[in-house]
Parts: sequence; C-alpha cells; structure tokens
Amino acid sequence: MTITAESPISALRGVGPKKAAAFEKLGVNTVGDLVTLFPRRYEDRTRFTPIALAMPGDTVCIRAMVAAPPRLNRIRRGMELVKLRAVDDTGAVEITYFNQTYRKDSLHQGETYIFYGKVGVVGQRKTLTNPVAEREDRAGSPGSVTGRIMPIYPLSAGLTQRVMLDAVRAALDLCGDDLPNALPEEILNQHGLAQAGFAYENIHFPADLGALELARRRLIFEELFVLSCAMGRMRGERSRTGGLKMAPQKVQEFFSALPFTPTGAQERAVLSAADDMCSGALMNRLIQGDVGSGKTMIAAACVWYVWKNGYQCAFMAPTEILAEQHEKTLKGFLEPLGLRVGRLVGSMTAKQKREVNELLQAGLLDVVVGTHALIQDSVHFQKLGLVITDEQHRFGVGQRSALTEKGDHPHTLVMSATPIPRTLALMIYGDLDVSVIDELPPGRQPIETYVVDERYRERLNAFMERLIAEGRQVFVVCPMVEENEELPEGLKSAEEHARTIQSALPSRRVACVHGRMKAKDKEAVMAAFAAGETDILVATTVIEVGVDVPNAALMIVENAERFGLSQLHQLRGRIGRGKFQSYCILVSDSETPEAKARLRVMKETSDGFKIAEADLRQRGPGDFFGSRQHGLPEMHVADLCDDMNVLEEARDAAQALLQRDPNLDEPGNRRLKAQCDRLFEINAGRLN
Ligand code: ADP
Ligand code: MG
Repeated sequence: MTITAESPISALRGVGPKKAAAFEKLGVNTVGDLVTLFPRRYEDRTRFTPIALAMPGDTVCIRAMVAAPPRLNRIRRGMELVKLRAVDDTGAVEITYFNQTYRKDSLHQGETYIFYGKVGVVGQRKTLTNPVAEREDRAGSPGSVTGRIMPIYPLSAGLTQRVMLDAVRAALDLCGDDLPNALPEEILNQHGLAQAGFAYENIHFPADLGALELARRRLIFEELFVLSCAMGRMRGERSRTGGLKMAPQKVQEFFSALPFTPTGAQERAVLSAADDMCSGALMNRLIQGDVGSGKTMIAAACVWYVWKNGYQCAFMAPTEILAEQHEKTLKGFLEPLGLRVGRLVGSMTAKQKREVNELLQAGLLDVVVGTHALIQDSVHFQKLGLVITDEQHRFGVGQRSALTEKGDHPHTLVMSATPIPRTLALMIYGDLDVSVIDELPPGRQPIETYVVDERYRERLNAFMERLIAEGRQVFVVCPMVEENEELPEGLKSAEEHARTIQSALPSRRVACVHGRMKAKDKEAVMAAFAAGETDILVATTVIEVGVDVPNAALMIVENAERFGLSQLHQLRGRIGRGKFQSYCILVSDSETPEAKARLRVMKETSDGFKIAEADLRQRGPGDFFGSRQHGLPEMHVADLCDDMNVLEEARDAAQALLQRDPNLDEPGNRRLKAQCDRLFEINAGRLN
C-alpha cells in the first residue's frame, strides 16, 4: 500500500499505536498533518565556539577531541555516570553523562566530536552535562543533530525530538508536492514569496537562517491571507444581502430624554448604527467598550430607533440575572418614551412564557430581553428589526443566527467589553463594523488598586469590616479550580475561604458562588448579593460577566498572580459602578519578577486596551489565543505581535483579490476558496 498525505500517522515506519496516540494528542492524525506541525523554536547548531570563549550559561556547539577513554562511575544503584575530558586548541571541558552508559563505548579517545549543550562551571573547570554529541564528519549531513539549525518540536508524553525529526522527515518526503498551498501563483510573484515546497522544507529543516526567514514569511503570509480572504468574503456576502431599510430619525429626541448627557463616543456609536440601519445593507456592528463605558444606553438608543420605524427588538444576554438587569435599565430609558419592554428567560413558568410570546406575536411588546430562551422555536415576533447580543464571546454565530432567522433580515448589534489590542482587532473584526467606546462617562471616581501580601491579612479584614459598617458590599475572588484538580499548596478555594472569612467576621453575612454550583443556585446567590442581602460574596471568576452591583465598593482578589491581566481588568470592572470610592486589592505572595511586573500594570492603569496590550506582550499571543476568549481561530505561525507588517500586506492583497474575484471563482483561486471554507468549518461558531 502506498502511503500518502492522507494516510494515518501510524502508517509511518516506527510509529506504533502508542506513538500514534501521542501524535494525536498534538492534533496530528495523518501524515499530512505532521507537515503543518511547526517547530516551537530552533537551535542554531551551525556555529562552533572555541572552548576558551564558551561562557558559563551559554548554550553552544563545541568541536573537541576526546582526550582520554571515557570512565564509568556507579554512584549508587540506578545512577551511572560516564565522565570524559574533551579538548580543542583553546582549552578543555569536562563532560558528564547521567544514565547514558552507552556513551562509554560510543565516544572514542582521539576522535573529534561536536558537542552541543549548556556550559557550566565547577571550580575553574568548564563542564557540559548530557550534551548532544555527534562525530565531526556526521555533522550537517541528513539526519544529523549538529552542524545545522535544529527544529525543536512541541512534544507530548511518549514522543522525543528524535522521533519527531524522523517522522517529520518521512512525512515531508512522502508528501512530495502534495503540500497545503492556498496562495495563487500571482500572489506569490507579486509579494516575493517562496514556493510551498521550499517553505515546508525550510520551516522544518532550515538550510540556513535566511532560508528559515523566507519560509516563515511565506507561511505567515499564507495564514493571514487566507484568514483575510475568508473574513472579506463574509463581509462581501453581507453587503450584498439587503437589510431592512429604516427611515432616519432624530436621535436627539432620545438623547434629551436621558437622565444624563451622552458622551461623545456614545453619540458617535449611535449615529453610526443609525447610518447602518438606513443604508439598505445589513448592519453587523460591534460596540466595543470597556466595562462601565455605557454600552447599555447605546443599545437602548438603537431599540428606540427601530421602534420609531415600527419594528421590534430582541436583546439576548448570557445569564438570567443579566437579562433582568438589562430589562430594568431598558425600562428606565424607554418606558417614559412609550416603549413596552418584556423579558423571557428559562426559569419562567410555561404560562408566563406563553404570555410573553403572545404579546410578542401580537406586536404588543417592542423589545424583549432574555437569555437563549429567546431562540426557542415557540418564540415568534410580529416584526423583528434588530437583534442585540451582550457579551459577544458567550454566544456562537449559530445562536445569534437562530435569533435573526425569526425576522426578515433584521440588523445585528453586538456588545463586548473584551478589550482587544488593535493588532488583533484588524483580524478578528474582518466582518464587523466596530464602534470603540473610548471615553468613560464623566464623574467616575477612579478605583484605587493596591498589591499586598499575606502579612496584610489582619488589616484587610479590618478594612472589609469598616466598609461594610459604612453600608458597602465586598467581592472576594478566588482562582478557579478545575473539577477534580488538587488544590495546589497555598491556593485558596472559594468555599474554604468563605468559611475563613466568616469566622474572621462572624457578624457579617458571607455567601459563596463557584463554577461547580448549578446555574440556578449560582443565580440565586448572585441575585441575593445584588439585592443587598449579603455583605461579602466569595466567588470564582463566575462573576466576571457584567453583573451590576453599584453598592459593591471593594474587591479582594486572592492569589492574584494566577489571573491573566485582562481577566483582572474584567473583574475589577465589577466595582466602581456606583457613587462610592472603590478599592481593588490584589493579594499575592508571589516573589517572581514577572508576577510583580504584571500586578504593577494593574495598579498603574485602568485602561482596558493598555492592559490587554501588556497582557499580549507578557504572555505572548499563544496564550492570548489559548484563552479563546476572542473568537479567533488558532494561528499556526503568525505571531501577531511581531508580524504587523505582513498582516497588513496580506490583508491588502486579500482585499485587492476579492475586489476582482469576490467569489473566488477563477481557476487559480480554487484552492484558496476551499481553504477559506475549511477555516470556517473548523472554527464554526467562533468567528463572527
Ligand atoms: P457597560 O458598558 O459596562 O455595559 P453600562 O451601560 O452598564 O456600562 O453603564 C454603566 C453606568 O454608567 C450605568 O449606571 C449608566 O447609567 C451610566 N452611564 C452611561 N452613560 C452615561 C453618561 N453618558 N453619563 C453618565 N452616566 C452614564
Ligand atoms: Mg454591560
């Protein structure tokens, strides 16, 4: 049987069922998959360092001769050392291998080898421990591990770099020209990009650093180009789909009925949405604003606008408690103007739901706020004109479109508080028009943030006590712990910590909410806190999503070093929503400079974008994407921090191509089209 790119990975020589399972853990199922499993990093083993210049701490290649026969030492049972001395013209190095007894016979006195490893020092002597070793004449030849730039692959248990090297080599040879390649020939030429064969060969086995760079550039460009094309096509489809054409209204009429003056950013967002809805095309707009920037009022303005045009709105929130809050807020804004606001959530009785449905169908409600109960088949609108969803990443495209199908091409407005660095926004929002709310309503008291350690515990308790005596409420946040996961030393579990606090403050009402509780119980605890029935809410990050408790003026985050910066920012947004001075106290005993630097960012800025950028810089995009909060497909090679230039070039190229061939029907673009479709299949529900 011939092995092809489609063959299972176990078809490769030396890959038994165990190794095949280990490959599958890395997402490698077929021989072809292996070709796109890119090295995590590279080690430059092409340059040799004279021993005299090899500094302790450096990882280097040394070309040296074994000066005396290697000696075997048994220190104790199960621990054998092979020791040897190697020399070059400039000096000597002591080499030790632990439990690699075969080295005694594989390294010969008088022969010269390339050793690769990290230089150590014992007394005056330079040392290498367990270095890679290869006979001088083997270095740089096919299959060698020195004398060239070595790829270092991600591994899973059961795999070694050696196994990976052999498997990737075999996969590349078997695939031949059958490589993933979505770039049309003309794009390659126009942008000076390498051919696929060259790119895949050199991303794995770089001939030199220049070749590696060319390979990387080609693959990054391809990845970003395909993503841009896919996004661009979606956008194109939308602009060809007609939307309800609304008649212009004087939004000033709505603004003047508000209890406050809208900020410039709010006004601009409302006007843009109004323009969209009057354009005749379908609106698909994202309102992106930091917590507390006043997105709800923008939504209310749009509801009003649509109502003036004789249409209804659906407003979907991720939880019942949020739905309830939005209902209350919308009623405040809209009922005085004559709109009728209703609510539909899962916990309502069948009778209550039926009533809301009847009102909706008869056109007697102008807006219904709800959870995904809204997408049930039994829900019908008389004239649905606009669908609003809050907290974007909680809903998939599927859920959103199930709702829009209840109308005749209603417009869409999405609200998100996830701040996204500009670098990423370019990619993610390919299909959305974005309004950024970069201005907070006036008169906010900035939250005071402090970073403290365990020694402050007594004072913290006293501070809680004092604020509660003043009538305020307190959030205490503990790190989320996966089910069944052992609690690492020193980490506070929410339940246990709640008991500790209760015994420290016996007269205060302490409640606890965490992810393992049933949704209904969670909501009940949160609702009690929102209603002021408890003083202290000890919680895991389940409180992250926009619950509004203006009376909460203190947030204490335990083991703060365990949280991502963006997450801390979202959490902190739960306080400072009322007229009281609010405080955020990050408790951490971590001594590492990284943790300290991270927490300092929180103390120094409250700007969600700056924090997201710092987060991206400190954690790297891998992690940033890893959290999967941003609806982004996983990127293989593109490090968006560094690759801004390629990103822009690829996006412009994609736009130009789509202008000429919007549907990618030209024969030269067939593979590109297939690749775009695949991207959406893989990421169904994640892209907007
Ligand atoms: P978010 O963007 O987090 O959803 P909200 O819509 O909940 O923010 O608004 C936060 C608070 O700010 C609310 O109490 C709201 O009434 C108030 N608010 C919104 N816009 C303004 C404004 N222009 N001036 C004063 N207060 C405002
Ligand atoms: Mg909100």
